[in-house]
Amino acid sequence: MSHPIQSVRGMNDGLPDTVETWQAFESIVRDWLRRYGYRELRTPILEHTGLFKRAIGEVTDIVEKEMYTFVDELNGETLTLRPEGTASAVRAAIQHNLLYDGGKRLWYTGPMFRHERPQKGRYRQFHQVGVEALGFGGPDVDAELIVMCADLWRALGIAPTLQLNTLGDAEARQRHRAKLIAHYEQHLDLLDEDGRRRLHSNPLRILDSKNPAMASINDAAPRLMDELGDESRVHFEGVQALLTANGVSFEINPRLVRGLDYYNRTVFEWVTDQLGAQGTVCAGGRYDGLVEQLGGKPAPAAGFAMGIERLLALMETAGAVPEAAGPDVYIVHAGEQAAAHAWRVAAAMRAAGLAVVMHAGGGSFKSQMKKADTSRARYAVIIGDDEAVSGDVTLKSLRVGTEQVRVDPARAIELLK
Ligand code: ATP
Ligand code: MG
Repeated sequence: MSHPIQSVRGMNDGLPDTVETWQAFESIVRDWLRRYGYRELRTPILEHTGLFKRAIGEVTDIVEKEMYTFVDELNGETLTLRPEGTASAVRAAIQHNLLYDGGKRLWYTGPMFRHERPQKGRYRQFHQVGVEALGFGGPDVDAELIVMCADLWRALGIAPTLQLNTLGDAEARQRHRAKLIAHYEQHLDLLDEDGRRRLHSNPLRILDSKNPAMASINDAAPRLMDELGDESRVHFEGVQALLTANGVSFEINPRLVRGLDYYNRTVFEWVTDQLGAQGTVCAGGRYDGLVEQLGGKPAPAAGFAMGIERLLALMETAGAVPEAAGPDVYIVHAGEQAAAHAWRVAAAMRAAGLAVVMHAGGGSFKSQMKKADTSRARYAVIIGDDEAVSGDVTLKSLRVGTEQVRVDPARAIELLK
């Protein structure tokens, strides 16, 4: 026998029990998005590499070292498996002129790919739900996005906390950048390799470092908050007032910068201390420059993305994961005539909307009943020679008591529903 081939490192199979949990999560999410008026967008998983370089920024973890990029040998194009969804959403909005008649509320879900070191809560293929409000510039939409997250956490039975910051506008960031470079230049010996490399290309990114050795120099760094212009300050205050008015508490974290270049003004992260180092379950903010940067007519925008694996892990620690349901019925049958009757009964039950597993592969009643038990079905429907002759079925609960009743199939369907 040859060696079995394994899945690619950091990329997980979804086995049925897990998939059913995901589906329960997804149905809550779809209903939540519908209630806020967001509509689903589906974009390809492969994009031109240039899209991500332009959107996310050349000097970022993602573009520098995490992208799955390859040359399509059939035509020489350089392509990348999407590492996030915002760039594609904005590309699609521009390409299809979605903003011609005003703002659009959109969402997407699906796999994302980043070549990171796999660990709990960090995978090479992971999944996000992302929400983008394109074409809206006011603090009301920033607050809407955050308030709707808080609403979802309640529906999911979890309670991450909100960290909030503002990155101001381009001028504020320019002033801050100069002060930041001066600060780090005074402490060159304390900068790690990434920090030194980014000092002049993207010093803001240094603040986002996950290296604990960088914590003290980052804590002492000048704050963007102190450079804010009036408009950004008013915007930020507007967001905070709306959050407070709608019962969402937050902590202002002046060090929060986010790992992607396209953000300005409001940025936020929902974090938990229940998941170890991978504690951010949802992150987002405003990115007013991105539409223009990708070649569209200038339009403000804001959004967020959440990591499904981390949210489900958090639901698990909170005991909030719903148990996957088994089928309604497992049909046990023996004998040729019984089998023919069983097929008809199964068809009628399925047509009535019941989930029916038909025993396959023969065997004694006893062994079939064992299979019925392990199937987690609510009921066994038993069809032997007697039932085949009379056209009845025997219905036996697999959950409560041991009582069984012999009824005609229509009555069985009524009882099961
Ligand atoms: P981190 O700081 O943990 O690397 P990030 O800032 O790179 O996260 P974003 O690009 O903001 O993450 O993505 C939004 C969310 O997607 C994250 O908050 C997280 O929940 C999830 N996520 C990001 N990268 C991964 C990954 N490799 N595996 C699983 N989930 C991820
Ligand atoms: Mg990351």
